Amino acid sequence: MTQRTTFSGLSSSAAAGGGWNPWTLAVLAGLWIAALPNWPLWQALLALPETQSARGALFLIGFAAMVAAVTALLLTLFAWRATIKPAIAFMLLAAAFGAHFMGSYGVVIDTTMMTNVVQTDPREVRDLLNLRMLGSVVLMAGLPLLLLWRAPVRGLGLLRQAGRNLAGLLALVIVLAALLFALFADLSATMRNHKSMRYLINPVNSLYALVDLGLKSQARPAGPPLAIGTDARVLARAPGGKPPLVVVVVGETARADHFALNGYARPTNPELAKLDVTSFRQVMSCGTNTAASLPCMFSSLGKQGFEYRDRDHENLLDLVQRAGMAVLWLDNQAGCKGLCERVPNAFAHDPVAGAPALPANLCDGEDCLDAALLHGLDARLAALPADRRARGVLLVLHQMGSHGPAYYKRSPPDRKPFMPECTTNVLQQCGRDPLVNAYDNSIAYTDHVLAQTIGWLRQQSAYDTTMLYLSDHGESLGENNLYLHGLPYAVAPVEQKHVPMILWQGPHASAQAACVRGRRDVPLTHDNLFHTTLGLLGIAAVEYKQPFDVLAGCRAP
Ligand SMILES: [Zn+2]
Repeated sequence: MTQRTTFSGLSSSAAAGGGWNPWTLAVLAGLWIAALPNWPLWQALLALPETQSARGALFLIGFAAMVAAVTALLLTLFAWRATIKPAIAFMLLAAAFGAHFMGSYGVVIDTTMMTNVVQTDPREVRDLLNLRMLGSVVLMAGLPLLLLWRAPVRGLGLLRQAGRNLAGLLALVIVLAALLFALFADLSATMRNHKSMRYLINPVNSLYALVDLGLKSQARPAGPPLAIGTDARVLARAPGGKPPLVVVVVGETARADHFALNGYARPTNPELAKLDVTSFRQVMSCGTNTAASLPCMFSSLGKQGFEYRDRDHENLLDLVQRAGMAVLWLDNQAGCKGLCERVPNAFAHDPVAGAPALPANLCDGEDCLDAALLHGLDARLAALPADRRARGVLLVLHQMGSHGPAYYKRSPPDRKPFMPECTTNVLQQCGRDPLVNAYDNSIAYTDHVLAQTIGWLRQQSAYDTTMLYLSDHGESLGENNLYLHGLPYAVAPVEQKHVPMILWQGPHASAQAACVRGRRDVPLTHDNLFHTTLGLLGIAAVEYKQPFDVLAGCRAP
């Protein structure tokens, strides 16, 4: 207590009984947060035709009052002398960061976005930090934080404060109920027609997503995931056949319409165009961000089943391993989101026994270029158990791909066909052309890495080889002022969901090549990856569904 009185001259009077009531501070903070850090919400609502009238203006004012009341209501739970300042500071900062990301990138904050935030790694965060964000946070939270820090808070005693808070809570509920009654028609119509608006209410969106995420992780039973492929077995090979070696390359943030193979006007696929590959042109992703897509891609359940699962299941990697084949997940990104926990796995920058160290120009100390995935791959393959390799190998390469917003970091200086290039992570400042140049350079580099992968597979004469490339989701590059990815699936633009999928097969499959090419415009989704990969490996299991195996109809019976 004595320490506190010497800390600031103002708080000595607070200790004596003067100063602000915590509940009053909660209401003031609610008003500030509704008015300023919610600017992306007001901007979006002001652009709607529904708000272009006097009635619309009244609705906006009433809605703002509702946002303020909800925020104050939440803060009322913490309206005690010891807790009100930390609670308001937390809300202010959450709102300021939320406002920056929503306002700058056109993203909204929902549960899957929060999953991404929770699972992200420091490297990804560094890419998102910039001066503009600092400025935005200072502007949205700086002044009230300063005032808050200086404000003395009155200590009323437990019972009296509880009484005040209860009365305050009741007042806010009455205000909210009255507003809801008055605005109900406009509110329900607006929320129904513009579903993404609710994810813009700041910072309620972040708090809701955090709670939802916590509940969802509690809802599924803990412990090991449900085993799949308990009957999995390797099918007999055709006479003269070798064990399969299937490389699944998991792409990152690659959108299908920027691949020359799919009709893009710029030469982003100079190397793959010369190889005998099939590009499937109508493939939709499972999610719009890595954390949503990756587990779904490798699941046996499909998008629907995966999203509504009541417990966790093993994935494709577990099944292939259970069938007796060798599996390796090699990562050049933030990790495998738990997919590779039970199978051999490594990061691309991990040293390989029996191979020289990674060339210095492949890694900058933080990130590695995707060519690092191929470095020492012979040694990594040879290190897998020989008896498993004799049955077959599934190798997953998880790319850095076109991970944003720092696209320019995804291609080396000598592989940038499209210039000038955007070299900041404040994408809006770059203008459309340099931004697209930087992105297309990352696609052209992926083209190179995939061609190198095929080159490596051609040397693996002990195996019947296949490469299957599939991106986890797409990306917005400023269309309709949207950037990056991660919008809720139902409202996300097609750029974030339409993904490239490219297949290359060795000479063992040449008899099927024409049939496979004939399927390039069949509508596909991430749901097809699980079954197509099992088909390529020649594994039978109760989870395998032939209609989802893209190549099933092309294989000899
Ligand atoms: Zn991703």
